[in-house]
Amino acid sequence: MKITDIKTFLMQAGSPPSGAWAANYGTIATGWRNWLFVKIYTDAGITGVGECSGWPRVIETAVHDLKPVLIGENPGNIEKIWQKMLAAIMGHGMTGTVGGGAMTGIDMALWDIKGKALNTPVWNLLGGKLRDRVRIYAHAKTPEVALQLKAAGITAIKAGGTSDPVRMLEDLRDAIGDEMDLMVDLHGPPWLTVSDAIVLGRRLEPLNLLFMEDPIPPEHVESYARIRDAVAVPLAAGERAATIWGERPLIERDLVDVIQPDTGRAGGITQMKKIAAMAESHGIMLAPHSGSLGPVAEYAALHVMAAVPNALMLERVEIDWPGRAEVITPVPKQVDGHLAVPDAPGLGVDIVEDAVARYPSQMNVGMGKGDYEPGTENEFVYVQTKLRRGKYFKGK
Ligand SMILES: [Mg+2]
Repeated sequence: MKITDIKTFLMQAGSPPSGAWAANYGTIATGWRNWLFVKIYTDAGITGVGECSGWPRVIETAVHDLKPVLIGENPGNIEKIWQKMLAAIMGHGMTGTVGGGAMTGIDMALWDIKGKALNTPVWNLLGGKLRDRVRIYAHAKTPEVALQLKAAGITAIKAGGTSDPVRMLEDLRDAIGDEMDLMVDLHGPPWLTVSDAIVLGRRLEPLNLLFMEDPIPPEHVESYARIRDAVAVPLAAGERAATIWGERPLIERDLVDVIQPDTGRAGGITQMKKIAAMAESHGIMLAPHSGSLGPVAEYAALHVMAAVPNALMLERVEIDWPGRAEVITPVPKQVDGHLAVPDAPGLGVDIVEDAVARYPSQMNVGMGKGDYEPGTENEFVYVQTKLRRGKYFKGK
């Protein structure tokens, strides 16, 4: 079998910002984003589908740049093709998410082709499955949304954003009780300083969080050690890195309890399996990032999570944009806060090309529009000491 062609499908997912929400937050908090799917074609008539994140519109060009590397190759030699792609783009940088995203979608499609050619699901090619379903967690900032998700069977909730986090998390814990897991994502901008992350982490200790995510900027890897030494809350990070080399510092230095590679840009199923193994050797659990990701990468995550022992949970934007269900077939089955592991050959999913074409790409950068208010999410300084600490870190 030989690869004959590769095509890309770029689309706009989510709803554009409107009303007061748009006035206050612009596009950054609305989930309005690009999805990029790829399809690889072979002379055997088998096609494979994949998804790329990490700046999708830019990656679309990167995927077409890689076409000459792929044409004529046997799609079954996935590791060889992955290494060829890495060598081909080496001059552009090794661990970036644009290159990682391009290789991810292609790698994912190659696993899909291999599974279809061998008439077996991808999880079977990864060593077989440990589980028939994968636990998911959803996002909630208010008790109302958390209880709505709880009633729908969700068993773990994550709150994002850094404004008044102690009070928000106390309210959430009071609402959902101790039977559900609760997490926080402290990502910026503005990102917290190490001191603020330590003070905040100590305030959150009584809430028994499953993890505290991205307490400081991902570039400050060495500072995770200071937080870890000072705070008894499990740490999670890794969504903004790509490949084993991007995730390696967090794992190798035992800086996190949970590693969160993004299934759309970490380097594909090939890299996800290796990252999971590296994490396993350090007792670190895997909880793939999927905040802005689309539904094809979610299928890839399900196959990886089915086949690795240290699978914790899969992130899912629940409640997401309804169009998510239009652009793929079949839609994954969600029962009791879990997604069923697909059993069809390959990834078990395909894109609906007509539906994708109905949502052309418009824009894909985060645009803040709020007032320039020091120390809040509306101040777009990358790292900012939290002001009014007495209020924000006090809680109830
Ligand atoms: Mg995050």
